[in-house]
Amino acid sequence: MSTASTASFSSRLAQVKPSPSVAAKARVDALRAAGRDIIDFTIGEPDFPTPEHIVQAGARALAEGATRYTGSAGTPALRRAICAKLQRENRLDFQPGQVIVGTGAKQLIFNAFAATLNEDDEVVIPAPYWVSYPDMVLLNGGTPVIAPSSAATGFKLTPEALRQALTPRSRWLVLNTPNNPSGAIYTESELGALCEVLRGFPAVRVMTDEIYEHFAYGGARHLSPLNVAPDLADRTLVVNGVSKAYAMTGWRVGYAAGPLDLIRAMTLLASQTTTCASAVGQAAAVTALEGPQECVAQARDLFEQRRDRMVSGLATIPGVSCSSPDGAFYLFPSVQGLLGKTTPQGRLLAGDPDVAAYLLDAVGVASVDGSSYGMPGYLRLSFATSAAEIDRGCAAIAQAVAALR
Ligand code: PMP
Repeated sequence: MSTASTASFSSRLAQVKPSPSVAAKARVDALRAAGRDIIDFTIGEPDFPTPEHIVQAGARALAEGATRYTGSAGTPALRRAICAKLQRENRLDFQPGQVIVGTGAKQLIFNAFAATLNEDDEVVIPAPYWVSYPDMVLLNGGTPVIAPSSAATGFKLTPEALRQALTPRSRWLVLNTPNNPSGAIYTESELGALCEVLRGFPAVRVMTDEIYEHFAYGGARHLSPLNVAPDLADRTLVVNGVSKAYAMTGWRVGYAAGPLDLIRAMTLLASQTTTCASAVGQAAAVTALEGPQECVAQARDLFEQRRDRMVSGLATIPGVSCSSPDGAFYLFPSVQGLLGKTTPQGRLLAGDPDVAAYLLDAVGVASVDGSSYGMPGYLRLSFATSAAEIDRGCAAIAQAVAALR
């Protein structure tokens, strides 16, 4: 018999919620295990496997002995490959010493906050935001300051909203372009205007999360803030990784490039926590970055077709309004037109979480509520799934909406 434990947990942990997208995925898995037919629009990763030439490179690396610890900033080969990639694709100059490899971009974002934040330091996070940023700030004793945006600004932070959010305690601005969940891509002039505001706040660093950079559609083109404001290089951290571009989410390899002092601080932290990203993952990432890039263009084209398919599938559903995102692999439709309606079971749809719950219960469509991304009134629907599932899901949403009163 065990006695009740009085062992406690950290007060910082109490401020943190489980990642809503990870929780939504767990719900999908549980419902499927219980035999329900679920159309999963919560997926935050490509639905196809890592390209074969990268898998083969990983297998070869294992056979050749990539089975040991590496340096805490990553292998020299991968850091060189990252510098070459940043030069070739982003026109950004970094030396290998200014690059750190980690177990996914996620860990590097956490480590950047852990290495820099002191109690009550503020981090400006534009909404809608990737769900993990505010919680990572809280876990490191900082205070997330949410800067609002709206559909009218294309879900992008304006210079005015940035200026309002900045205080003497601000330490970071987090930019994510292309954006999860809205798909928004900042243009050159939009980035320029934000960087101009930052020139007046020299204590504020810029974290630019560019993990969706290759998923830009139509005429949209990804730019890094550093492309338009090279003078901010001594306080900008470029965060990226191989997860999304090369369908390598499970390999857990991300990277960050920035000023030497910050990279050294993050490397110290890694040396006392994770030691390094997996050796085999790093070896495979070298091949991803240096090998043929057709797989990236193919993935981009496929996602663009799926985006168009899902946008037209939702277009005729009354109460659901969706613009076509410039990038990433999510739609972010407004469901404000459904709020106030009642389900056939007599439940009132008071907010977007009710709409997400109704779609899951009524027709088995899994989505994530916009409130979780700091943007009530919206849903996030991933189109990283097959055309057949997109068609089935849109038809199911239409059916569920038609049954509302
Ligand atoms: N940033 C954003 C905006 C993301 O959506 C994700 C993954 N969902 C990550 C970072 C983390 O990517 P990873 O840790 O797999 O590199």
